[in-house]
Amino acid sequence: MDVIVIGGGAAGMAAAITAATLKNRVTILERAERLGRKLAVTGNGRCNLTNLNMSPEHYHGRRGFISSVLNSFNVEQTLSFFRGIGLITTSEPSGKVYPHSDQAGSVVDVLRFALSALNVNIITNCTVSEIAVSGDGFKLKTSIGPFRASRLIVTCGGAAGAKAGGSRLGYQLLKGLGHSCTNLHPSLVQIKTENKYTRPLKGVRADAAVTVQKRGSGIARSSGEVQFTDYGISGPAIFDVSRSITTGGSDLTVSLDLMRKLDRHELNELITSRLGSGLTMENLLTGTLHNKLGRTVLSRLGYSLSAPVSQLSRNDVGEISNMIKNYELPVIGSLGMDAAQVTAGGIPVEEFDPVTLESRIVPGLFAAGEILDVDGDCGGYNLQWAWSSGHLAGLMGDLQNDIEN
Ligand SMILES: Cc1cc2nc3c(=O)[nH]c(=O)nc-3n(C[C@H](O)[C@H](O)[C@H](O)COP(=O)(O)OP(=O)(O)OC[C@H]3O[C@@H](n4cnc5c(N)ncnc54)[C@H](O)[C@@H]3O)c2cc1C
Repeated sequence: MDVIVIGGGAAGMAAAITAATLKNRVTILERAERLGRKLAVTGNGRCNLTNLNMSPEHYHGRRGFISSVLNSFNVEQTLSFFRGIGLITTSEPSGKVYPHSDQAGSVVDVLRFALSALNVNIITNCTVSEIAVSGDGFKLKTSIGPFRASRLIVTCGGAAGAKAGGSRLGYQLLKGLGHSCTNLHPSLVQIKTENKYTRPLKGVRADAAVTVQKRGSGIARSSGEVQFTDYGISGPAIFDVSRSITTGGSDLTVSLDLMRKLDRHELNELITSRLGSGLTMENLLTGTLHNKLGRTVLSRLGYSLSAPVSQLSRNDVGEISNMIKNYELPVIGSLGMDAAQVTAGGIPVEEFDPVTLESRIVPGLFAAGEILDVDGDCGGYNLQWAWSSGHLAGLMGDLQNDIEN
């Protein structure tokens, strides 16, 4: 069968390898100059390709659908597939899996070599602008001329990360065929807050418990590293709650507990124990918090850094502890889709069969990867979605012959 895969990213390459292994004639049409452009920059250039702690709870979308797809090609099968094409991987205590080479480029390379060994026809610098159903198959309009195929796999990715190739083109292609698309929001993205109390801390990292509050009630929580920037906050613990911020509407505040190791009482005692130290306020929190952070906490409360610590009252100590345990930053927004790692939203999964990923609207058309309304947490979950759904779409319903089962 003649199969065209539109989009040569993670899901598209996985789909093409599966379809070609099943003896189909496969062509990948990719609008960029080379395959796997986004894949090559994942995980800060290291590519966190999956996570050993896999469960549907790490995903947002229809859980039943997501489980069905993840179970069809699970983490073990994914790692054995990669080993089979020459990629040795290594895992961290958090469960995150990386190539042993520590280079995202290795992941792209082994996929490229596998495609080439299977004689997949790779056409780059080719943007597909329209899909039409034609007889038993499909006719495509592209930037380099028309193409025909009897089966189509759409893996155009999401809108996130424009610099790495993210775009809305895939959604438009499928909408042109009668599919719908949900609202799109950036996820795994830096957060803009009022920056009066973050800008002086630019470059400082802190361990914190993070709570997103909407009009006083907590709507999301995380903990871990927070990075302060001139526009607001970033870092893994912020990425983990960013989806609830970009989809959470207005009136949001991020509250940071900058000393989660100590409760309020212990923190009060610690500060009180320093009142007789003869220090000035500048050094009251030295050894407790990053120096810049400690001084910003005290300045935010209006204390003069040159005053002696001995002047502090019991109320003052309570106020300082409160500020450390609840460092509030009103949210302005996020750095947006271009800066995001993944798109929340996409083509509704109800429009696809969870067993085959064939469109319920356009028979013969399959879709996989970020273009679908599924997104995962930070930690390799989005790429696992791309591998699992890409593999399943590549089977094109030929489940009897699943090479991995
Ligand atoms: C900076 C960054 C770091 C990330 N790090 C990680 C990580 O470490 N771990 C993780 O799990 N996830 C990570 N992600 C998310 C992950 O990269 C994506 O979720 C994943 O690549 C999605 O795979 P995909 O195949 O669906 O889309 P993509 O990999 O984006 O591939 C889609 C391809 O389709 C092509 N295309 C689009 N439209 C057309 C068209 N009309 N015609 C022809 N070609 C077209 C695009 O050029 C692109 O190559 C990261 C994302 C970013 C931006």
